[in-house]
Amino acid sequence: MNPNQCSFCGRHREQVKMLISGQNGYICENCIEQAHSIVKENAVQNSAESAQILENLKKPKEIKAFLDQYVIGQDQAKKQLSIAVYNHYKRLLHAQNEDREVEIEKSNIIMIGETGTGKTLLAKTIARELNVPFCIVDATILTEAGYVGEDVESILSRLLMVADYDVEKAERGIVFIDEIDKIARKSDNPSLTRDVSGEGVQQGLLKLLEGSIVNVPPQGGRKHPDQKYIQVNTQNILFIAGGAFDGIQEIIERRLNKQAIGFSSEKLNAAEEEEDILSKINAIDLRSFGLIPELLGRFPIITHLDKLTRETMVRIMKEPKNSIVNQFVELFRMDGINLVFSDEAVESIVDETMEKGLGARGLRGTTEKVLEDYMFSIGEQKEIILTGNKESN
Ligand code: ADP
Repeated sequence: MNPNQCSFCGRHREQVKMLISGQNGYICENCIEQAHSIVKENAVQNSAESAQILENLKKPKEIKAFLDQYVIGQDQAKKQLSIAVYNHYKRLLHAQNEDREVEIEKSNIIMIGETGTGKTLLAKTIARELNVPFCIVDATILTEAGYVGEDVESILSRLLMVADYDVEKAERGIVFIDEIDKIARKSDNPSLTRDVSGEGVQQGLLKLLEGSIVNVPPQGGRKHPDQKYIQVNTQNILFIAGGAFDGIQEIIERRLNKQAIGFSSEKLNAAEEEEDILSKINAIDLRSFGLIPELLGRFPIITHLDKLTRETMVRIMKEPKNSIVNQFVELFRMDGINLVFSDEAVESIVDETMEKGLGARGLRGTTEKVLEDYMFSIGEQKEIILTGNKESN
């Protein structure tokens, strides 16, 4: 490399005011200026593109309207999720802006609600709407590195897999961590014993959640000494965690009652609905439950799902785009059979399912059972009208 010449334009030392040396060459002030203006121009172009993308991005209300087609009820959770997702994608655009002065932080979400109330369904539906890679992991299979079970990095292996190993795509994906409540610290005293299954995993999750470059074993599972890692930046991956948090109601209640000693106006009405209590949940309660503060700090949005009432269950049977009723009607229609669910039939399926305590998850199974004989002898009848009495026998 000639030390008396700009490596970019070839001008000689005498022809320029300065030559700045780099590792493998020299640059003159003219070339610096030119390069700078290219970068500037690019930034302007990028921000125009961002504005356009933002324009095309669905607004929270539209995202919620989409969710409404698949998820019944759960308005509060749908609203919070729509806002969080919208802000998340705004944040992605903002991150591309090189002149930014304010760093917008990620809005990971925790959803609390009984099993079968629609947590997974919400996360899955939102990923579909956004057309980004989505994966579900069960927190209970994760253990601290070095112990039996899967390392936290395996979460990203799954995301990579659904993104067909397109790293850039995976880096914009959504990860749903189910059963996050199962990795709660077992005792209130953190120094008591080392808690492999709980606190250690929470610690391990931190590095994924905070946005860092993580070495991901491509096949998932256990690390192998000679395995090549794929580097994934988790900065823009949205994490949604869900859990039933059994017993959280009592924790909330205790907190509210404790507060009430000082502020009697806030005293909790004993008759207050269970549902209302869950809506008062905050990070303090989750901390009492056994989530570590560092982890909670990375889940700034806490939302809850309501218990499903009989009425909601009936709506779930009938209303979603791919409702159970629609699915079975379609299945029979393929054989030219007209299947009709009477209101009583739907109600008795709901009642039977509620007795099993499986939430909406059990509806499909109950319906299958009710229709079993009809499906077995399909083709013998042109029309089947299900009445309430029929299935309760
Ligand atoms: P969980 O809260 O345990 O994650 P899921 O989202 O997996 O529950 O729900 C199980 C099934 O029950 C879903 O696949 C869906 O068919 C049905 N379901 C649950 N809640 C709702 C809801 N609010 N609206 C429509 N379907 C629901």
